[in-house]
Amino acid sequence: MEKILNFINGRLTEPIGNSYIPDYCPMNGKEYALIPDSDERDVNMAVEAALKAFKTWSKTPAEKRAACLFKLAELIEKNAEDFARAETLDNGKPISLSRAVDIPRGSANFRFYAHALLQMHTEAYPMDDVAINYVLRKPLGVAGCISPWNLPLYLFSWKVAPALAAGCSVVAKPSELTPMTAFMLSKLIPEAGFPEGVFNIIHGLGAKAGNAVVAHPNIPAISFTGGTVTGKHISSVAAPMFKKLSLELGGKNPNIIFADCDFESMMKTTMLSSFSNQGQICLCGSRIYVEENLYEKFKNEFVKRVLELKVGNPLDEKTKVGAVVSEAHKKKILGYIELAQKEGGKILCGGREATVEDDLKGGYYVMPTVIEGLDHTCRTNQEEIFGPVVTIQPFKTEDEVLEMANSTIYGLSSTIWTNNLKRAHRMAAELEAGIVWVNGWLIRDLRTPFGGMKASGIGREGGTQAIEFFTEEKNVCIKL
Ligand code: NAD
Repeated sequence: MEKILNFINGRLTEPIGNSYIPDYCPMNGKEYALIPDSDERDVNMAVEAALKAFKTWSKTPAEKRAACLFKLAELIEKNAEDFARAETLDNGKPISLSRAVDIPRGSANFRFYAHALLQMHTEAYPMDDVAINYVLRKPLGVAGCISPWNLPLYLFSWKVAPALAAGCSVVAKPSELTPMTAFMLSKLIPEAGFPEGVFNIIHGLGAKAGNAVVAHPNIPAISFTGGTVTGKHISSVAAPMFKKLSLELGGKNPNIIFADCDFESMMKTTMLSSFSNQGQICLCGSRIYVEENLYEKFKNEFVKRVLELKVGNPLDEKTKVGAVVSEAHKKKILGYIELAQKEGGKILCGGREATVEDDLKGGYYVMPTVIEGLDHTCRTNQEEIFGPVVTIQPFKTEDEVLEMANSTIYGLSSTIWTNNLKRAHRMAAELEAGIVWVNGWLIRDLRTPFGGMKASGIGREGGTQAIEFFTEEKNVCIKL
């Protein structure tokens, strides 16, 4: 059985306590690797190495830092098929998705921030002939990066790449549910040319290893992506220490469909925004609101297409819906389906575990599920399920749908389908969401600000925002 190791000070390292936890394969529920059950001592060791490395990395010329990021991107591309397979085995997502999205985006993140680092500039504020101000940006020190399981390499790299580009050294903790691709990446870090101690990876449980990263006095910035409850806890530890915090949290995104939309394009994309990655993308649209006069047509066509989705073996290239990430998560999703029925919802399709071949028994499969007949205020429509479950609901007016869309504590993303330009602009301005897509979904330009409002987070990732997060601004004023 493969033993995953920490990566500290340029070396693969056993956890100090020599304790390991199992890593399960969602495809068949079998234990297939061991993960270090790291604790405070391992984190301390990584921070010590990172502090030392920071002294030189922060002063290393931009071109040299960029070269390491470019090289790491290249190495991911070179090993893309191995990474894709590993991501699928560790997470349960269809191999087609790992190949087309997760792994290419992992390398794109390093490449993007390598380029961005070479284009950084700063502001100057001349005060006529009195003085001139200019802004210096200094890397913060050791950055703590904590990432979730749903897009393992994709979101891990989305944090560490800007931190490294900014000149910070890094102590990163991937999710204990999906540690494999971060482990594979750690083996490539020396070949990419990163000096020892610049990029450290600690594996283990959130409450133990993750918490030790958040609470460490020598880590001044925490970039976290994960659940809202965890984000709240992290804030309670980090805020009194005056740490800089970037929080990308949960969502309950509305997908708003007007009758004047381009029906076919909307249908195709709504299938993806509902069930890609088994609905485990923070940007998936789980509340589908359809204008009353289109509702029946939408419902019939949507259910027909959902029933056609191939569910099962994630390694089968034709699979559209693979396994969810864990046994506990499967139970949570099934629990919400039960709740929806208790709340008066009618299951139009799915609503149960999927039947799979014998060798996949023990895997975590949930049928894509469509539910109607629920009020927008019920728990099913207010709480994040994060699985292949969507609700559909008719609406009459723009005002009514806006109220329903904005009624949750979350504010991550929204999708609007309409050919009415004025309405699209009006709605985009009023929706409480950090990202609004009009007639599309998951179209991502890495330069744009990414993040959520309300309980979906604080701060923005992406573009220069992420590099700025990992730096401290200093105004220098020179009297003329
Ligand atoms: P999670 O909060 O359980 O865990 C995320 C990470 O935090 C893991 O690495 C975990 O080990 C660590 N962690 C857990 N407890 C911790 C603690 N006390 N201190 C420090 N670290 C701790 O989230 P998850 O279940 O892995 O991911 C799913 C959630 O992530 C969903 O809510 C989803 O919406 C959200 N998410 C948000 C975005 C976004 O960009 N807004 C993107 C992807 C996922």
